[in-house]
Amino acid sequence: MQGRYGPDELNLFLSRLGMLLCILSLFPPLRICGAAAWAVLGIAIFRMCSKNLPRRRQEREQYLVLRGRVRSRTALLRRRWQDRRTCRYYVCKQCGTTLRVPKGAGKIEITCPKCRRAFQKKT
Ligand SMILES: [Zn+2]
Repeated sequence: MQGRYGPDELNLFLSRLGMLLCILSLFPPLRICGAAAWAVLGIAIFRMCSKNLPRRRQEREQYLVLRGRVRSRTALLRRRWQDRRTCRYYVCKQCGTTLRVPKGAGKIEITCPKCRRAFQKKT
């Protein structure tokens, strides 16, 4: 493996995805997943054995940025679900920031902490 790229986070993800697709292909309606599993595992092996290190590092960086976006979005959705009885969420129309306000406070003026835009909402 000298001079080869080796394993990284993207390869771990691809390997796990390939194994999941392999398991899914055991069920008759999802047989097509078998071909997809081989393709994904092939990509993972190709990346590990590749000598084009700059390109593999670039792919890894893109993967980490995408994973970070998905994780932060998932965390926001989880928090919204946990706070659904006590808080309401609004999106600032000027900057797109998500704002959390207490529920049941009546008609209140909400000021965005990022862009200072104020708007009224009933909570
Ligand atoms: Zn704003």
